[in-house]
Amino acid sequence: LLRVRGLRKNFGTNRVLESIDLTVGRGQVLALIGPSGSGKTTILRCLNGLELADGGTIDVGGEVSVSFDPPPTKKQLTALRDRSAMVFQHYNLFPHKTVLENVLEGPVVVQRRPKAEVTAEAIALLERVGLGDKTDSYPFELSGGQQQRVGIVRALALRPQLLLFDEPTSSLDPELVGDVLRLIKELAVEGWSMVIVTHELEFAREVATEVAFVDGGTVVEHGDPKQVLREPKEERTRQFLHRLL
Ligand code: ATP
Repeated sequence: LLRVRGLRKNFGTNRVLESIDLTVGRGQVLALIGPSGSGKTTILRCLNGLELADGGTIDVGGEVSVSFDPPPTKKQLTALRDRSAMVFQHYNLFPHKTVLENVLEGPVVVQRRPKAEVTAEAIALLERVGLGDKTDSYPFELSGGQQQRVGIVRALALRPQLLLFDEPTSSLDPELVGDVLRLIKELAVEGWSMVIVTHELEFAREVATEVAFVDGGTVVEHGDPKQVLREPKEERTRQFLHRLL
């Protein structure tokens, strides 16, 4: 479903992504782990076209193939953006819009789908995540866990091929983390294809079909979660895991 080849990104003179290669099959869940500043968030943002990579290619769904050197056209970048939806660490909800309006914004305004149809779908999704009674609330009236569930519903409502999660639970109070992880796990079981940046190694072990350890802008090691997390081959992976345990 997703194939990334030689992805490069600099911020000024800071080379953040050296050359990233990744693949995600349909229904698979890739967990990206690695130290702070290693480039994990930047990978997701490049996949979603929120950052423009400097080189390499991203193919999604066999239909969209975007190269970055020379830069892609606006049309190619829009096609790439349409394929995935991002769930952010800090939720990034519109503060002045209600829960329902937050969910409708992308499908109605950007994708121009019929409002009545999208509204029915949005309400069903909000009910599913236990927020059926919060449609008219504003983000500030919700707990962090509830806001993040709105963030996930907002991503699902875009009907993307690929869901991208950027440390979805790291802003949450510990007692709220479980609910959000459970929801992500349910989506994985249902067959959604995902890339998840996470520090929750136990969760990665349980839910991911593949783990990639990113350090210094490259994928140092990737493979079966149990192998990478329990018996890493690379010394750098071992040191990283050792520090966390
Ligand atoms: P964390 O786990 O702390 O979120 P990360 O692995 O996600 O870290 P990134 O957020 O991708 O790392 O950042 C990688 C590097 O790129 C860092 O050195 C960061 O300072 C730099 N960087 C990220 N975004 C920008 C930006 N917009 N402008 C300049 N530098 C940036």
